[in-house]
Amino acid sequence: MNENLSRKDLELAIQKTRDSFDTDKPVVPFIEGDGIGIDIWPASQRVFDAAVEKAYTNGRKIEWQEVLAGQKAFDNVNEWLPEKTIEMFDEFGIGIKGPLTTPVGGGIRSINVAIRQKLDLYACLRPLRWFKGVETPTKNPGNVDIALFRENTEDVYSGKELEVNSEDVGKLNKFLKEEFNWEIRHDSGIGIKPISKTASERLIRSALNYAVENNKKNLAIVHKGNIMKFTEGAFRAWGYELVKNEFSDVAISWEDCSGDAGDKILVQDVIADAFLQQVLIKPQEFDVIATTNLNGDYASDALAAQIGGIGISPGGNINYENGKSVFEATHGTAPKHAGQDKANPGSLILSGEMMFRYMGWNEAADLIIKAMEKSISEGNVTYDLARGRSDAKTLSSSNFAANLVENIEGFK
Ligand code: NAD
Repeated sequence: MNENLSRKDLELAIQKTRDSFDTDKPVVPFIEGDGIGIDIWPASQRVFDAAVEKAYTNGRKIEWQEVLAGQKAFDNVNEWLPEKTIEMFDEFGIGIKGPLTTPVGGGIRSINVAIRQKLDLYACLRPLRWFKGVETPTKNPGNVDIALFRENTEDVYSGKELEVNSEDVGKLNKFLKEEFNWEIRHDSGIGIKPISKTASERLIRSALNYAVENNKKNLAIVHKGNIMKFTEGAFRAWGYELVKNEFSDVAISWEDCSGDAGDKILVQDVIADAFLQQVLIKPQEFDVIATTNLNGDYASDALAAQIGGIGISPGGNINYENGKSVFEATHGTAPKHAGQDKANPGSLILSGEMMFRYMGWNEAADLIIKAMEKSISEGNVTYDLARGRSDAKTLSSSNFAANLVENIEGFK
């Protein structure tokens, strides 16, 4: 049984989500974040409020509501991820967060993974583009303009792992030997890699829909199906089926057109290792990527490094079907810089930009992008982006935000 929405119903669901934010004062729950969260959240909020105020003359305003998670939650209510936080994200359908400390030792494995799983935020969207003025290790970073869709709920990230020498791993090993005659070394930990048709289709459908909405020319399915045939290979096959069954009016696979897609979106598949070299050598040939969880994790950080922007690389975790979403800075808590008003709030600010676009508040989102482009190209940046630039002025987190606000207020 296919539990997913069809393409048509997905389009309707996305429109319904946007309509729900067509209101003057939506509530947006936020997690400040641990470590540098204390520096970058207030800086980011200033920029968000300035962009909304400038963009809308009708008094639109975000009603920010703080919710707890991470160290701050643990210190206050003795829980790493209070249920109330999930309920608030669920109730208002949206949220934004700074970085969180990953608890060491027992209890919750990762708060970020728990939020994604509890809200079934199946797509991790990472837009990857270069900002003029950012130092990069590559020659033509301006050729990178990619929206990467990473499946967020299964694969080896589903948490189905058994520890070496545990009673459970012994039981599983015995079962595998008896039922499948599979020999696995006795001193192995074992993890399970489920890849379902349901999760693969809804991710790839969302990526295809994004390509259509944003007039993109091509989409690549990135996988290791040459080796993992029934998981990653199936992901690829289900993707192509979807193109044929639901998107044939707007998209076509490479096999069906020998590379000449005409006006349609060209869909091809690339093996993950080959993808990593191709995207380095000719990034301009990739617009939208749809990939599995682990591949997506590696590829998104590799691409962020390629554009010199790991500190300004945003992310969104989205369930396009029920509309829920949580946007987030993709870096960690950088504890050694915490509380010094020094860290770059760019990743969180651009996550907010993604959030506004998701809400249909494109005018506010456009102002944020324009302001970031101006500040960075003029060399008004935080310490991390000032490195290697003789023309740059090093600003604190709060002064960088002030510079962005000044830009926003100055735009005609
Ligand atoms: P990190 O990203 O926190 O820091 C690595 C280095 O990157 C820092 O020392 C700093 O030099 C630089 N950096 C990161 N963000 C920056 C910013 N905004 N401005 C300027 N420089 C910045 O990675 P880590 O040290 O491996 O992890 C620290 C903690 O963060 C751990 O508890 C880890 O589990 C957690 N973490 C959380 C998230 C998340 O919440 N999304 C992601 C990664 C790591």
